[in-house]
Amino acid sequence: MDAFTLVVVSALASVVMAASMALLYRAAPHQTCLRDWALTGVFFTCNSVLAAFAFKFHLASFLVPGIANALYVAGHFGVLAGLRRHLGLVPGWPLMVAVVPLVLALHAVPALQASVAHRLLVFTPLIAAINLGVGLTLRGRIRPDEWPTYLPLVAMECVFMLQQSMRTIYLVASRDHALTFMGSQFFQTSGSLFLLLFLSVIPMSYALIVAHRQAQDLRRASLTDTLTGWLNRRALQNTADVAFSRCRRDGSGMFFIMFDIDHFKAINDRHGHGVGDAAIRHVTDCAGDVLHGHDALFRIGGEEFAVLLAGQRLHDVRGIAERLRERIAATPLRTEGLVVPMTVSVGVAAYSQHDEHWEAVLRRADEALYRAKVHGRNRVDVCNRAMAANVGT
Ligand code: GH3
Ligand code: MG
Ligand code: MG
Repeated sequence: MDAFTLVVVSALASVVMAASMALLYRAAPHQTCLRDWALTGVFFTCNSVLAAFAFKFHLASFLVPGIANALYVAGHFGVLAGLRRHLGLVPGWPLMVAVVPLVLALHAVPALQASVAHRLLVFTPLIAAINLGVGLTLRGRIRPDEWPTYLPLVAMECVFMLQQSMRTIYLVASRDHALTFMGSQFFQTSGSLFLLLFLSVIPMSYALIVAHRQAQDLRRASLTDTLTGWLNRRALQNTADVAFSRCRRDGSGMFFIMFDIDHFKAINDRHGHGVGDAAIRHVTDCAGDVLHGHDALFRIGGEEFAVLLAGQRLHDVRGIAERLRERIAATPLRTEGLVVPMTVSVGVAAYSQHDEHWEAVLRRADEALYRAKVHGRNRVDVCNRAMAANVGT
């Protein structure tokens, strides 16, 4: 393939990239990083089209390489910007907007105008820095099990770094400072081939990243209660299985705090379901404040909740349960001009070595909760096999 054909093929690959990202964005509009990546495809397309025109019509103006390089830098920046947006960081496009005039202005410098080699030596570190930014952005933000998802992107960035290093080494070694724009078969062929490889693999890696995020969101939604944001019963199954195995293995403690809103039906009946829902959210908000730092919080029924705690002492867990009860009793719900006093009854149970399954612990917490209800509500009742204590108000 001659250099011109490669440039045309690169342009086509860029169009495919821009189009596939735009179509993916239509299918998943909340994945806004796809907009950045579609824009990346547009920049690379414009870069390749301009290069093809320059090649065909022997355009000699210094503006041609200037614009081509600005588009090239912007394309690489788009990769980084999309990744940053995907990870919840500021994409940083204004920085790019500031860099583009600088790239153009540098092409007006006579030394750079005259020599492709000088231009490469100036812009290679800039591209390398952007590529390096991808790795640095991912570092510390990705869990070890997520790395396979990001590996194709990182691999492509590494391939680019390799290509840039090779070009720099070639330049320094050959001292071929008389290169002209599109004038070197080696530079043009290697550059286009690497760009082609990049443009072919990158959309796949983006699709992989987005599919992974979609799967994560779906999984999170399937495990989360929409009213309170707490985890649901299905999540309890997964979390408790893991915690129970760990507890059996290393002998650390495992506890359940269960609580249920007192006389909740009366709230619903008197004020309607809307206020009832607000009451449920109010209770989880108050409980969330007390349980700050614990993330195993579950809504396991209409107005029944469970908290899984590990590695604590029963005395401390009982203290947490008591604080939770006190906080809710001291914080009435204020909504729609109403002040609705609320209380909860709480049951606490600890793992015992005779337990074959975590459900046995949960069942005892439920029994303790039932006793708290029977003994007058707004109480904490504690149960474990070795010891049973009753903590009243
Ligand atoms: P107790 O003190 O014995 O717990 O009495 P209670 O009235 O709270 O009785 P119970 O715990 O059985 O109340 C359950 C009620 O919660 C029945 C149901 O109508 C209501 N409920 C369940 N889920 C929801 C919900 O998502 N929103 C609202 N508003 N009400 C719900
Ligand atoms: Mg209740
Ligand atoms: Mg109930």
